[in-house]
Amino acid sequence: MSGPARDSVGRMETLRDIGELAAIERIARRLPGRRDVVVGVGDDCAVVRLSGGAGVDWVLTSDPVVQGTHFAAETAPEDVGHKAVGRVLSDIAAMGADPRWGLIDIVAPSALPVATLDGLYRGAVALAGAHDFCIVGGDLSEGPALEAHVFGVGAVPCGRAVLRSGARPGDLLFVTGTLGGSASGRHLRFEPRVKEGRWLRDWAGAMIDVSDGLAADARHLATMSGAGCDLDARAVPVSDAARALRDGVPPLDHALRDGEDFELLFALAEEREDEFMAAWRKAFDLPCTRIGIVTDRAGLVRCCFPDGATVALEGAGYAHFRQASSACAAKTTG
Ligand SMILES: [Mg+2]
Repeated sequence: MSGPARDSVGRMETLRDIGELAAIERIARRLPGRRDVVVGVGDDCAVVRLSGGAGVDWVLTSDPVVQGTHFAAETAPEDVGHKAVGRVLSDIAAMGADPRWGLIDIVAPSALPVATLDGLYRGAVALAGAHDFCIVGGDLSEGPALEAHVFGVGAVPCGRAVLRSGARPGDLLFVTGTLGGSASGRHLRFEPRVKEGRWLRDWAGAMIDVSDGLAADARHLATMSGAGCDLDARAVPVSDAARALRDGVPPLDHALRDGEDFELLFALAEEREDEFMAAWRKAFDLPCTRIGIVTDRAGLVRCCFPDGATVALEGAGYAHFRQASSACAAKTTG
């Protein structure tokens, strides 16, 4: 980062001007890394390795949920706690790792009812407990609105974390569950795909959780892999919630662009498809759908329609700082 950035008329550049991804890049340039950091900024979690670490890599992630951005003032506190922990579990799952420990920082106004704090922790601890994720502490600070910041640690066998960068042209793209319609409430009570993520580390060459929207997250995966993605419009599993919205937006668009599905998008070597599908069906009831292919068109994500048309998916998905002001709780990110 060089000195205060200003635009052509000398105005101080803001986060709105540059957007979330450029802000992350600026921050990443400030972070020096170290020999024990296997993966730094840019994946769902960082990966670190202790010397003499007994064959384990540790994955680290943190995530805030903020009233007015990720949930509305009237959201049930149990749902806030569930969502705060669920987002972190989803990122740990996307690495193929096992959740271990978490910390929760709470920012809240002094007028917050104690019952709200109790409810938030009820939701947080219930979901954490279901995934053997032990909340071990955190901190409290006074602030203008309720926020819950969760820091999580997971474990994965040494060298086995599934990164965004491992997709190769010719790999098949799959997604768990169904997509779209998170604004109708799914973004609060989703099930992070922890079991599935752990299981997929034996199969997936690259993986990401769908938090910004399928098109945007496919692009993250493609970019980190130096590849492209072609998505098959007919194959994308559109959720009932997206079909029920009837807001004039085609359900497929919801499936491609809504954030916060918290499903897993992953790449699989083509020759493993049959064996994979048989094993998946044996292990899980959840749908898992082949939705496309990894291409050699670096950074290009396209949607391919049955009539042969292809549409480049650009600028799709949620990014912080650039949204028109807040229909909060509808669309957020991770
Ligand atoms: Mg993620």
